[in-house]
Amino acid sequence: MKTKNLSIKIVIALILGIAVGSICNMFAQAQFVEGIDKYVFNVIGQIFLNLIFMLVVPVVFVSIVLGVVGVGDPKLLGGIGLKTLGFFLSTTAIAICIGIALALIFKPGDGHSDLLKSEDVSSYQKTLDKQSQGSDNAAEQTFDQTLINLFPKNPLQAMSEGNMLQIITFAIFIGVGIIMIGSKAQIVHKFFEQTNEVLMYIITMIMNLFAPIGTFGLVAHAFTGAGFGAIKQLGMYFFIVLLALFIHFFVVYGSAIKFLGKSKPLEFFKGFLPAITLGFSASSSTATLPVSMKCTKKMGVRPEIASFVQPLGATINMDGTAIMQGVATIFIAQISGVDLSLMQLITVVVIAVVASIGTAGVPGVGLIMLAMVLNAIGLNPAAIGIILGIDRLLDMTRTSVNITGDATCALIISKNEEKKLQRNQSGANEPV
Ligand code: ASP
Repeated sequence: MKTKNLSIKIVIALILGIAVGSICNMFAQAQFVEGIDKYVFNVIGQIFLNLIFMLVVPVVFVSIVLGVVGVGDPKLLGGIGLKTLGFFLSTTAIAICIGIALALIFKPGDGHSDLLKSEDVSSYQKTLDKQSQGSDNAAEQTFDQTLINLFPKNPLQAMSEGNMLQIITFAIFIGVGIIMIGSKAQIVHKFFEQTNEVLMYIITMIMNLFAPIGTFGLVAHAFTGAGFGAIKQLGMYFFIVLLALFIHFFVVYGSAIKFLGKSKPLEFFKGFLPAITLGFSASSSTATLPVSMKCTKKMGVRPEIASFVQPLGATINMDGTAIMQGVATIFIAQISGVDLSLMQLITVVVIAVVASIGTAGVPGVGLIMLAMVLNAIGLNPAAIGIILGIDRLLDMTRTSVNITGDATCALIISKNEEKKLQRNQSGANEPV
């Protein structure tokens, strides 16, 4: 993949998509525009998304198996797992704090109590009522169920449903099995390696052929549906979420890359650009996985680390989502005239970390999980209806942040392991 050319083409497609979509939004009532949106933008966007999604389950499964085999020692894997979780949890907590702090400083909800009476709130209340009758609501998943559900009863079903955590668990078992059996499983190991090569080839082909046009379709469709007009009334909320996302992206990830990963942040972001733009247009961490793993591996992240850290991150690490949830909670408290106590703010941080772990890497789920945070501190979840209209545009940006967090973690762990390897090797070479 000639990354530079492709990145430029995708960025141009993105800008064109925003421009064309915003213009179409002004004439959204016209039948002609409706037709173009439905039969052109949406169709090309969805075909591109399906092509990428087609690869997600096989890529995640195969690369985690190879990642586990690559690490070689199950004990070592445990260490990497703990470090990864530590990084994920702490960056998510920092993310929410940035969101909450900015919302408390800029007070986006002050003087907007009229929003609570809007139709959006009552119609969202109806949706919530229906959901609670159906009851298998993500926000109501209990801790014990979540734990039990990590282990698939039927791995094929997990794959067909795209249940990432269960796929990861199964892949880890297969990887450990291959290590333990050793040379007897050589052919199985080879099979996974070769399948991986084939999948990587297909990703390159799809990206080269479809990424620019697909990006254009997805972005144009999103902006036709929710043009800049929707932002006016909620402008301050929108702006603060964006500001927090930018700060987290450049300051938190930037310094983590520089100081913990000993690498140049801007170079890293540049190399990761194809994934960032895809994350933006697809609004899905999961869909972006094949491309984001390819980008980090290309930049020198050890393949076995990228294969382990990034799929896990795309499933449980959502810093961008946590930022939105932090700002949204304070915003909704402000329009409801509720002053949150310090204890409530701490509750928001804890629950939002849990909510972001439970958020699936697909469009819009972060907003559904926000209900869990609001419930926890006694705010009305129906208020989510107010921010629904502009969430798609924020979802695009926060997804780019989500996947960059996973990639940053992969880089840092990879550099760390390399240092250890070098130390071991130089120790081994020293004369006794
Ligand atoms: N779309 C986000 C992601 O895939 C999740 C969300 O916040 O809705 O990372």
